[in-house]
Amino acid sequence: MILITGGAGYIGSHTVINLLNQGYKIAVFDNLSTGHIETIDTLKDIGDIKFIQGDLCNIKDLENLFCNYDIQAVIHFAAFSLVEESCINPKKYYINNVMGTLNLLNTMLKYDVKKIVFSSTCATYGVPKILPLDENHPQNPINPYGNTKLTIERILKDYDKAYELKSIILRYFNVAGCDSLIRIGEWHVPETHLIPNILKSVTEKDKVFKIFGTDYDTKDGTCVRDYVNVEDLAEAHRLALEYLFKSNKSDIFNIGTENGNTVKEVFDICKEITNTNIKVEETQRRAGDPPSLYANAKKAKEILGWNPKKTLYDSIKTAWLWEKILFNNISKEEI
Ligand code: UDP
Repeated sequence: MILITGGAGYIGSHTVINLLNQGYKIAVFDNLSTGHIETIDTLKDIGDIKFIQGDLCNIKDLENLFCNYDIQAVIHFAAFSLVEESCINPKKYYINNVMGTLNLLNTMLKYDVKKIVFSSTCATYGVPKILPLDENHPQNPINPYGNTKLTIERILKDYDKAYELKSIILRYFNVAGCDSLIRIGEWHVPETHLIPNILKSVTEKDKVFKIFGTDYDTKDGTCVRDYVNVEDLAEAHRLALEYLFKSNKSDIFNIGTENGNTVKEVFDICKEITNTNIKVEETQRRAGDPPSLYANAKKAKEILGWNPKKTLYDSIKTAWLWEKILFNNISKEEI
């Protein structure tokens, strides 16, 4: 059985579907602080998953989990991930992300589970010195969120050396879109991310979409990001897991499309897909945003055999269908 922590969240839940499609048995562990029970209900309709509500900061929850289920490997998503919030409340991030992960790793060792796929982030690189970013780029995070993820990467390296706990670290870039059948999707409360925020300014009458900064040194003055489709990202997790079983070797991979798009380009695609003249306001830069981030993901392609298939257009199309289901109560049949 594969344990997926944070399986009620955005990327975790899509990875659950990917693994279910390949016949894996899944246990989802989630405290539902940002994930949703409705997502778990949908996953239960799709396949045979065990859901355990629990918290990584509660050792008893972890003990019960590892005691009751025969776990071969872990894919670890459960974390807080908002850069701005991490600057205001770093304690929350260090406790949940770092302490929670330490509890998980120590329980894994106790139960002799020695394989983990870990969700890391391009935020561990900080402000790029060279683009595209490859895995050897120096890591100098510029916010507490990135610091927590880098700390965990270092712990994983030490735990491999000392205890032979093997890990695949996936450093991913921006994530977009949802399940092709629109059964689950991106659902953050509050929503801070670019694509759902643009789409919400279509569905929510009084919402005006704000561009954070138009004076960056980029082709149109807005930030450049690499938007990887969530189903392609889920596939990367499965390939990483299978590579870990096969090789029993720790490694690190960037996961991104290797294409950068500006905020204005994303906005234009949203306008085209929604066929709406979306209201927009140009405002100040948001703290902690580097101008440009996009990946060199050749290593994942060569070693994991990862082959991302979806374009940004595909991602925004599914994100728009999901947005309508989520917020306009339109049934799937009507779309
Ligand atoms: N962004 C924006 N308006 C929004 C949300 C995001 O202009 O309402 C910009 C943000 O400044 C960044 C890019 O969109 O340059 C992607 O932000 P997001 O929060 O989606 O992801 P992040 O890059 O922070 O992981």
